[in-house]
Amino acid sequence: MILQGKTAIITGATRGIGHAIALRFAKEGCNVAFCGRTHNEKMVAVEEELLALGITAKGYACDVADYQQAQDFVKQVLADFGKVDILVNNAGITDDAAVKRMTEEQFDRVMHTNLGSVFCMTKAIQPSMWRQGHGSIVNIGSVVGIAGNYNQANYAASKAGIIGFSKSCAKEFAARNIRVNVVCPGFIETEMTAEVPKELMDTWCSRIPMRRPGTADEVAQACVFLASDMCPYITSHVMPICGGMEDA
Ligand code: NDP
Repeated sequence: MILQGKTAIITGATRGIGHAIALRFAKEGCNVAFCGRTHNEKMVAVEEELLALGITAKGYACDVADYQQAQDFVKQVLADFGKVDILVNNAGITDDAAVKRMTEEQFDRVMHTNLGSVFCMTKAIQPSMWRQGHGSIVNIGSVVGIAGNYNQANYAASKAGIIGFSKSCAKEFAARNIRVNVVCPGFIETEMTAEVPKELMDTWCSRIPMRRPGTADEVAQACVFLASDMCPYITSHVMPICGGMEDA
């Protein structure tokens, strides 16, 4: 179990990729503090699922794009768990439209949730990681942040911003043994992509050399590696998980 004895915060783990990351981490012996925007039945169910794997787990209601809520969340996790070794910034949203039709509100909301949350959570966790002299931050970007995409200029900009932000943090934090890396999923089957019409899904898959979407667990496995002590000299890295899609 390569994360045995470690504690991780995973944002947006009530479903999808974040949920898969929480499960993988727990199976590797990691204690897990996770969040979604509201404390609901789904959060309780995920908490129970993780506890059943024999680790310590707790779900918290936190809008990670809210600076003060992020501060309070991390403070509470440190009080409950004693330390945090790993932060996975996974929470994210889409609100697609062509630039011609995109409203300022649509642009701002996606930027603020996806990129603003990474800033808020990094600010909140940095002092304790700095003091303890180690840490691994894994930020979930997207291949769209590398290659761009139709109708996703807001989302692509937020994910490209995550890459620039992460590489800057990697430089600033390296001397304190805090690594910062980005995982960039391609087309992954989750609730976020469930609404994509079948014809469009087939078109997308035809452009993926592996000819299929990825699974949330395939993204989670990469996160385990980057979070673990198996790669102590890997920082500032951008890792596409995309079945070989072009441009990624
Ligand atoms: P889902 O929509 O399935 O899940 C998103 C999660 O984020 C939920 O748990 C949601 O919880 C949480 N969340 C959203 N906003 C906030 C917020 N402000 N504060 C706290 N939690 C929040 O998304 P996916 O699992 O598909 O995606 C996860 C990440 O992977 C995202 O960053 C996404 O951009 C990225 N990604 C996904 C791809 C895909 O193909 N699915 C491809 C590339 C990247 P709740 O609703 O309970 O608040």
